[in-house]
Amino acid sequence: MGKIKRHQFIKLSLFSSAAVYVNSCGLGNNKAENTPGATKDTILKDSIAQNPSTKTNAPTFKLYKKGDEGYDTLRNGFNKRINKYPAVIALCKSQEEVAQAVTYGIENKLPISIRSGGHSFEGFSCNDDGLVIDLSTMNQVSWENENTVIIEPGCILSQLYDIILPKNKIIPAGSCGNVGIGGLTLGGGYGLFSRKFGLTCDSLQSITMVDGKGNIINSKDDPELLWACKGGGNGNFGVITSLKFSLNTAPDFLQSHRFKIAHIDAQKARQVLKQWFSVTANLPPSCFSAFVLNGASLYILLTNIEKQNSETQKIVAQLSSLVDKTIAGKPIPLAKAVQVFYGEKKPLYFKNASAGLYKNFEEISNFIEDVLKKVTSTGDMIYQVNTVGGEINNPVFANASSYSHRGQNYLSELQTYWRQESQTDKMVTAFEEVQQIFYANGIKQQYRNYPDVNFKNWQNAYYGENYPRLQKVKSKYDPGNVFRYDQSIVPFIQ
Ligand SMILES: Cc1cc2nc3c(=O)[nH]c(=O)nc-3n(C[C@H](O)[C@H](O)[C@H](O)COP(=O)(O)OP(=O)(O)OC[C@H]3O[C@@H](n4cnc5c(N)ncnc54)[C@H](O)[C@@H]3O)c2cc1C
Repeated sequence: MGKIKRHQFIKLSLFSSAAVYVNSCGLGNNKAENTPGATKDTILKDSIAQNPSTKTNAPTFKLYKKGDEGYDTLRNGFNKRINKYPAVIALCKSQEEVAQAVTYGIENKLPISIRSGGHSFEGFSCNDDGLVIDLSTMNQVSWENENTVIIEPGCILSQLYDIILPKNKIIPAGSCGNVGIGGLTLGGGYGLFSRKFGLTCDSLQSITMVDGKGNIINSKDDPELLWACKGGGNGNFGVITSLKFSLNTAPDFLQSHRFKIAHIDAQKARQVLKQWFSVTANLPPSCFSAFVLNGASLYILLTNIEKQNSETQKIVAQLSSLVDKTIAGKPIPLAKAVQVFYGEKKPLYFKNASAGLYKNFEEISNFIEDVLKKVTSTGDMIYQVNTVGGEINNPVFANASSYSHRGQNYLSELQTYWRQESQTDKMVTAFEEVQQIFYANGIKQQYRNYPDVNFKNWQNAYYGENYPRLQKVKSKYDPGNVFRYDQSIVPFIQ
């Protein structure tokens, strides 16, 4: 099998943003399913776990070294392009075990990576020759009261929605059912409901964490830590062991409309993109839209979580006028509608990355046709622009979080998928050529949850002027820089 077939790509692109991964979501808590005959339970039972000697008595976490059964299953993430070989993996079941594992890492001078759902685009939750703390079995959700839940970081989105949607409650999250709540929230977290309710991290009330000295911390004692974890918390300050969220009342249904042009050239795609920006400039907060150029096929998605009214009818008519085919959707009860976007559970070879956050079309108008030319001519690439804005830009949320892109209305991404390892170099090279166009034209702001190891000045791209403030938090909780990876926040030199 060569590249992913056209019809599969078309299916991938029918949906929104992350939901473009509709066929590609996977792993998370189901990692063990990818090894024939092995489940997480059998790994635990069969593996030769070695309990390290730590400062704390009676360590109970399971440790996997190279060669142990289960090591490869735990090592692999969702992106098959990334292959890293940690010295050891600690599979932890509780905060106490996490504290033991961190102490073990410090004593053995191992850099520590943290994994919840394993969906990092660049494999930042794994490392070579260090310690990986795996939280996939820490996935419980408990109710504090009817409007508040405490979630362990290894809980995946579909599991969370299965618990809270039947109670008519929602946290605005992404679309892929297998993304871990840990990584999603700590980098921001956006999706179909964010224009109405804010980012995932905006519903976060407090966290507990094991810091870089092995101490257990609660952010209620330090609001600055909570601020930092809302956008800057991925693998930086410590291992987040629980996240307390306030819940929103869930909408009753979701309605999705799709608009298509089966074959489009770059010039026409630019025209449609410009008009799409104009139509979506005043989108009601209940709506989300995505412009998805998948090779030479164009899709536009529009979702709505409120009753269609004259305003939304007008938007549907305007989008319809831009394309050849409109597929109007009916309102579907929410618990069912979100499942359409969950995706499959198989890891893939892919390269995805943020392609910039923009206020309006003017920021890309001079050069975007060059991007569209590459995308339409290679046929293997997806350029997608998603609406953000709305409640995401609420100043109260902005002040309370380190997520630094609040003024922006659009978030774009580049994606490419392939079948065989041998195709990797070719696919990545083509991808990077398109990225160069964005770099050369001054697109600088990037979403931390869509990272790329090649982003120049990533500190500024992800965190803007908040970076030094985040470094201060890092210096407080992880002065020894035990939690580190290619793009981790660096503490001030002591
Ligand atoms: C198929 C797919 C669909 C996606 N859809 C969306 C979407 O709709 N919306 C959106 O906003 N994003 C989306 N993303 C991006 C996603 O939010 C990030 O990849 C996110 O970081 C994944 O979290 P994870 O826990 O699954 O991944 P992991 O790989 O486990 O972790 C990702 C990062 O967070 C850190 N981290 C994880 N858990 C903890 C913890 N407990 N304490 C401290 N640090 C931790 C890791 O060290 C790593 O740096 C998608 C990604 C994929 C691959």
